[in-house]
Amino acid sequence: MKQIVWAFLSIIFVSLSLSAQVQVQPYEYPIIPKTAWNAKPAKPYKAHKPVRITVHHEGGRVLTVEDDATQRLRNIQSWCMGPDRNWADIPYHYLIAPDGTVYEGRNVMTVGETNTDYDPTGHLLISFLGNYNEQEMNENLEEVLVNLVVHFCKKYNISPDTIATHRDYTGHTNCPGKNLYPYFENNIIVNKVKQRI
Ligand SMILES: [Zn+2]
Repeated sequence: MKQIVWAFLSIIFVSLSLSAQVQVQPYEYPIIPKTAWNAKPAKPYKAHKPVRITVHHEGGRVLTVEDDATQRLRNIQSWCMGPDRNWADIPYHYLIAPDGTVYEGRNVMTVGETNTDYDPTGHLLISFLGNYNEQEMNENLEEVLVNLVVHFCKKYNISPDTIATHRDYTGHTNCPGKNLYPYFENNIIVNKVKQRI
């Protein structure tokens, strides 16, 4: 009898774990790997485990859908790895172009980098290419960001309550820009992510 009960329990357990696996949907949009934007190889850097998600914008020149986002990525990486910063790689883990394409940046299991005074250890850094003090957010970009964040919350077991922006950690910046910040200030992104997890 005991054996039958155990067999029954294990069937329930196996089906529960299978259904749990089925619920984790793959990310709907492809992430363009670093090799596809001709990134330079990264230098070695400190390892970490992502435990929170922090959103930035690039904050430099405006980038439009007509511009070449991969050229912008290469420019950022070259400048950051050059004499001005001498960093290990592009400072962010993932970057979102104005057309909604998501690009892979720095290895997500290494700490990001910053010009300001917060410690990015444990932060998974997502950055919007361009300048969101000047360019506008739109529904497509909002959808891409929500899906991407849902994906990372599930993949790395990160709580949606940790979703924040650069300026939430330091008074030295208005990053991610005045047109992007209201989506966080008003919990629009956090609430949508929570609905989908
Ligand atoms: Zn920032």
